[in-house]
Amino acid sequence: MDCLFCKIIKREIPATIQYEDDHMIAFNDINPKAPIHLLIVPKKHICTLNDVTEQDIELVGRLVKTASTLAEQFNIAQSGYRTVFNCNDDGGQEVYHIHLHLLGGKKL
Ligand code: 5GP
Ligand code: ZN
Repeated sequence: MDCLFCKIIKREIPATIQYEDDHMIAFNDINPKAPIHLLIVPKKHICTLNDVTEQDIELVGRLVKTASTLAEQFNIAQSGYRTVFNCNDDGGQEVYHIHLHLLGGKKL
C-alpha cells in the first residue's frame, strides 16, 4: 500500500521509533511542533477517524493508553500534554492513516 505510515511500519522508510507492540508503533514527528512530538500509529491501515468501526474501539483505546504511558516515560505526564487526531482537510490531516499526536514539553 502506498502509504507513508505503512512504509514506516514496514521499515521501508526510517523513523525514530520510540515504542512498538503488536498493535501500534510510535515515532518522533519529523517536523515537531513541541519539544516532545510523537505520532502513535496503529499497524492497521485506517484512513481517517471517520473510518474507525466498532471493531476498532479497543485499538483506539490502546492508542490513547499508550499516549499516557509515553507521556509518563518522557516526563511530561505531570507538566501536561496534548493529544490530537486530525481528520480530513479542515482538520489539517496530511497523512491518511490515523495517528494520535502526543505533544508536550512546553506550554501549548
Ligand atoms: P497530520 O497533519 O496528518 O495530522 O500529521 C501528519 C504528521 O506527520 C505531521 O505532523 C508531519 O510532520 C508528520 N510527518 C510527515 N511526514 C513524515 C515522515 O516522513 N516521517 C515522520 N516521522 N513524520 C512525518
Ligand atoms: Zn497506512
